[in-house]
Amino acid sequence: MKNTILLVEDEKGLADSLATELGFEDYNVISASDGLAAVEEFQKNKETIDLILLDWMLPKLDGLGVLRRIRKESQVPVIMLTARNYIGDKVAGLDGGADDYITKPFEIEELLARIRVAIRRVEKQENHQAELYQLDDLTLNIKTHQVFRDDEKIQLTQREFDLLKTLFEHENEVLTRDDILDLVWGKDFLGQTNIVDVYIRLLRNKINDNHKDEQLIKTIRGVGYSLSKEK
Ligand code: CA
Repeated sequence: MKNTILLVEDEKGLADSLATELGFEDYNVISASDGLAAVEEFQKNKETIDLILLDWMLPKLDGLGVLRRIRKESQVPVIMLTARNYIGDKVAGLDGGADDYITKPFEIEELLARIRVAIRRVEKQENHQAELYQLDDLTLNIKTHQVFRDDEKIQLTQREFDLLKTLFEHENEVLTRDDILDLVWGKDFLGQTNIVDVYIRLLRNKINDNHKDEQLIKTIRGVGYSLSKEK
């Protein structure tokens, strides 16, 4: 999948050439030429933006102002472009939550390398987060396909594993039987929703949830199920 970069730069010549170079490298580029437009584009596209290239000196709202607004709601990587090689700016940018900065004029190759590093760092974190789920003494490892409770390895069928993984993915949320059917059995499943109750019972037995002081898989009466530690 292509990565998307929000490019915030008011110097048209530089903005155009950067957009072209980034396009060559197979990034999707969203452009903004002032600070307020940058915040607006970010709000509209925050689900798809993987990185922001943010100029420091901008009309309407400067780069630091943009950065502060974005950091209120997102940890998306931000690389600041600064025209001045002034240490105070760098410190302010990094304090404001920038991940990196590059001083103009710069070599495009250096900028591209820094972009790759910043995006890879996030992808690594995301992969790592998604590999191992843990709640109390129950763990599920997606890569090795193993489940442990109290250091004891638990054998699950594929369906039971998928069910537990789905509950972990929605930890602390309440899933209805229909939600679980869609997520684990798929939207085309034509059987009855009580299959969910059957599988929850199987899963609870296997992970020894019935013999604990506190069950991790909770029945939310009249609604569905939730994996959580909350009482
Ligand atoms: Ca500028």
